[in-house]
Amino acid sequence: MKKLRDYLVNQSLQKKWMLTSSAVIFFSYTIICIVVYISLHTWLLNDEASQIKRASDDLVYFFESQGPGLTIQEIHQNKGLLDSIKDRDQTVKLFNVDGEKILSINENSQVAPITSLGEIMEMTIDKKNVFVINQRIQLGFIQGYIQVIHPLSKFESLMHYLLTTMLIAGIGALLLSASIGYYLANYLTKPLHALRASMKTVMDKGFNEPIQLSYTSHDEIGDLLKMYNAMMNELQISFTKQQQFVADASHELRTPIQAIEGHLSLLKRWGKDDPEILEESIETSLTEIARMRKMIEELLELARREEKDITSEADAVAVIEAVIEETRLLHPDARILLSKDEEIGRLFITENALSQIVRNIIENAIRYCEKIPEIQISLSVLEKEVSVKIEDNGIGIAEENIPYIFDRFYRVDEARNRQIGGTGLGLSITKMLLEKYNSSVEVKSVKNVGTVFLLKFPLKY
Ligand code: ADP
Repeated sequence: MKKLRDYLVNQSLQKKWMLTSSAVIFFSYTIICIVVYISLHTWLLNDEASQIKRASDDLVYFFESQGPGLTIQEIHQNKGLLDSIKDRDQTVKLFNVDGEKILSINENSQVAPITSLGEIMEMTIDKKNVFVINQRIQLGFIQGYIQVIHPLSKFESLMHYLLTTMLIAGIGALLLSASIGYYLANYLTKPLHALRASMKTVMDKGFNEPIQLSYTSHDEIGDLLKMYNAMMNELQISFTKQQQFVADASHELRTPIQAIEGHLSLLKRWGKDDPEILEESIETSLTEIARMRKMIEELLELARREEKDITSEADAVAVIEAVIEETRLLHPDARILLSKDEEIGRLFITENALSQIVRNIIENAIRYCEKIPEIQISLSVLEKEVSVKIEDNGIGIAEENIPYIFDRFYRVDEARNRQIGGTGLGLSITKMLLEKYNSSVEVKSVKNVGTVFLLKFPLKY
């Protein structure tokens, strides 16, 4: 048993499945066969016994009903009648009290010992199994015995036929169950093989290749693969984000670090004694450090993957008014106007995310403007969403650059924008937040006239 368990443990799922299902079907079939065989055997054997008993009783009754005048000659003359009373294959023998044979009908069998009167005995005569019954009998004036021998060959051949049929059907059932088990196991383990192969690819090559296992059935394996796909996609996104963070950080932080390093070397050599150089270098280093800090914060913001909060909602007017207020404090010269529909509902977004989106766009409107900034914000309710339009009178963006402004580190005028202090990450964060809350953005711009950002947020129901 232990050996069998050890053998099974090391086999493939497919083999285990096939062997177990075949064994279960085979054992159930064998048990059913044994029960059927024993029941039939008992029932048919009882039937054979009742046949011999009936024939013997009928013959005894016949002889006794003939009365005391019955002679041996008359018995011989009635041979045909006696033959019709017994069954075809049975042998009937009449003996006198001394055991001498008087008459024999149908010499199919040799004589059996005359013992155990009235009882049905099973014995072997001439290598054949038979039932024998001996009874005392009155033949006219003389006493004697009647012996009926009932061959069991018909019963035996029937049982033999039954056993052969059961055996052939059993082998057939075993083969059928093994093939069905094999096919089923193969069918069910196929997706598991695909899962294993996919895991191996991830182990060998990482997340560089797309992971998509297709299995359409809505069963436990289907659920498992669906979860695996979702989990791997999440991991893939996180992994890509992490990789991008490392690449972006190392690339973009190099410039401010080099600038600070340059200034510090300058200070070391000459700046200590030259208050002008000292002042300028400290000033530039502080600016670069501030920029670096902002960039790191923004990169972390982009790399962070927070769960969407489905209970979130924001009062659009209150949040936008707060951002305008805050901007007015920082940029008192900027003119910011807000116009809105009568009733603006609540948006399906967190207040933090909404204020960050609006703040990024307003800051850009002020930053990329060479006149006194004039910003017009209008809120209106559409069917199932709220649109927020932010128009500025800034330098505008050339049409060919518009598709790229949401890309990481993209700056229309690299050198100039660096001076202004942008990191090229603000709009990437804006886009990421908008996508997270199923919102959209459209940009229209005319060079030297201004830019319009049209945002659409779903309403909270
Ligand atoms: P940055 O931190 O450099 O401002 P953003 O991702 O916020 O980065 O913006 C990307 C680029 O898009 C900016 O560098 C700028 O060239 C351009 N841009 C964004 N908003 C405006 C605007 N309102 N007017 C003109 N150009 C803009």
